[in-house]
Amino acid sequence: MKVTSNDRIGCQLEEVAAYLDGELSAAALATFEEHLKSCPDCAAELRNQRQLLCTLDFALHEPRSFELPRDFTRVVAAHAENDLSGMRQWRERRRALQLCAALALVSFGLLGAASRTLVFDPARSFLRVTGSLISLVWQTIHDAGTGIAVIVRVVGRAVVFGSHGLWLLVALAFIVSLSLLPLLIAKYHRAQIVE
Ligand SMILES: [Zn+2]
Repeated sequence: MKVTSNDRIGCQLEEVAAYLDGELSAAALATFEEHLKSCPDCAAELRNQRQLLCTLDFALHEPRSFELPRDFTRVVAAHAENDLSGMRQWRERRRALQLCAALALVSFGLLGAASRTLVFDPARSFLRVTGSLISLVWQTIHDAGTGIAVIVRVVGRAVVFGSHGLWLLVALAFIVSLSLLPLLIAKYHRAQIVE
C-alpha cells in the first residue's frame, strides 16, 4: 500500500497532532509555528484537526445531545495502550481513535450547525426548504469527507512508517463498522415496519 502525497518538503504533518496535544518541545514548537506561517497545507491540516476536536469536545460536553461516559476516549485509549509500543506511534493511534469517535459524533452536531448556518446566512435563507436540504447534504458530505481524509492520512502514515499491520486492521474494522452502523439501524427499522 502506497500513500501518494503532495506534502511539501519540510512538512511534519504528524506534528499537527502533537501540537494540538501540547506535546512538542519548546524548540519543536517554535519550528512548527514558524513553518505554519509559510505553509498553507499544514495550516489547513491544523484547522481541520482542531475543528474535529472542537466538535468532539462540544459533543462530549453537551449533556442533552447524548450520554457518553466523560472519560470515554481515555478508557478506549488506556485499553489500546496495552498493545502498543513507541510514543510517536501511540500518539498517531490515539489521534485516529479520537478522530473515529469524532466522526461518529460529528453527525449529531451537524444538524444543529447546519441549521444555524442557514438561519444566519442571508444568501441561503431565501432558498427555503430546497436550499436547506441541499446545504445540509453538502455540509454533511464535506465534513464527513474532511474527517475521512484526515483518518486515511493518519492510517496511511502509520503504515508508511512501519507500524505493525494489526493496528491498521483494527482501525479499518472500526471505520467499516462505523459506516455499517446506519445500515444495520435502517435494516432494523425496516424489519420493525414489516412486522
Ligand atoms: Zn507544511
